[in-house]
Amino acid sequence: MIVNSLNIELPIGESFKIRKNRYFDTNQEIPSQKRASIVSGIHGDELEGQYVCYLLCEWLNSNQDKIKGIIDIYPALNSLGVDSITRSIPFYNVDLNRVFPGSKEDFLPAQIADAIIEEISGSAIAIDIHSSNIFLREIPQIRMSQEYSKELLPMAKTLGIDFVWIHDAVTVLESTFAHSMNSRGTKTLVVEMGVGMRITQEYGINLVEGIKNLLAKEGILDIEQKELKKLIISENGKVFYINSDSAGLFVPTLSHCDSVKKGDLVGKIVSPINGTVEQSIYSPADGILFTLREYPIVYEGSLIARIFGE
Ligand SMILES: [Zn+2]
Repeated sequence: MIVNSLNIELPIGESFKIRKNRYFDTNQEIPSQKRASIVSGIHGDELEGQYVCYLLCEWLNSNQDKIKGIIDIYPALNSLGVDSITRSIPFYNVDLNRVFPGSKEDFLPAQIADAIIEEISGSAIAIDIHSSNIFLREIPQIRMSQEYSKELLPMAKTLGIDFVWIHDAVTVLESTFAHSMNSRGTKTLVVEMGVGMRITQEYGINLVEGIKNLLAKEGILDIEQKELKKLIISENGKVFYINSDSAGLFVPTLSHCDSVKKGDLVGKIVSPINGTVEQSIYSPADGILFTLREYPIVYEGSLIARIFGE
């Protein structure tokens, strides 16, 4: 059932809408059903979640008999951004994921954030799917703040994603959708995977299987739960950042992969006009290459890669 879940009047006589597809158990009263919300498109240039929503809806369309609760799917929370493939909210140039929990009395981006919180509050769980940006490719990973890691780790374990990156308390995280939802009692996981403006089919297919598994654990889907691999958790090691020391063209020599050895050549920064290698970049540790630069132009300080070493 597709509904306009949110409608904010704009000054120009138009309105800002967010659409959702709601699935529910048709044999039970709706208010009594446990609810899960799957959201994506907070950043309008991230499309991996669009594919996940498609796959999940497609599966639910043909498995109505397995649905034992409410599953709300919101492919495009920043609908204006997704429509125009703009990361922020168009015209305001504001990152929607930096204005939560928002307010009714503030400018449009804050009103949108406030309306989203009101709409999704009351869900038992939520999954917020991101896909990096156009500059960096990420292996599928779950990100969470230290503050909520105790409640979120058991949930993360059922999602079938290998890597969990637990952040220390950073002020910027407090203005995110996930932080607002977690602080209101809706356990919310953030998934980062792939790269902006693209889809990675394998990642989408695997995440949908993980989401179904989580919904089964929550009793919202009546399907068998799967045994999953052990998680790699960032608390048990260190995240290394590799930044560029020079400007030029980044040419990777490793593909984005799970494991690297200390001293492996990650890539080179070359000068197109001089025909020279400006910098060779080596892995500082044994570990997982979980972030790798996708966009080739780099400047001094640009992020090239992140490696997690256990
Ligand atoms: Zn994002």
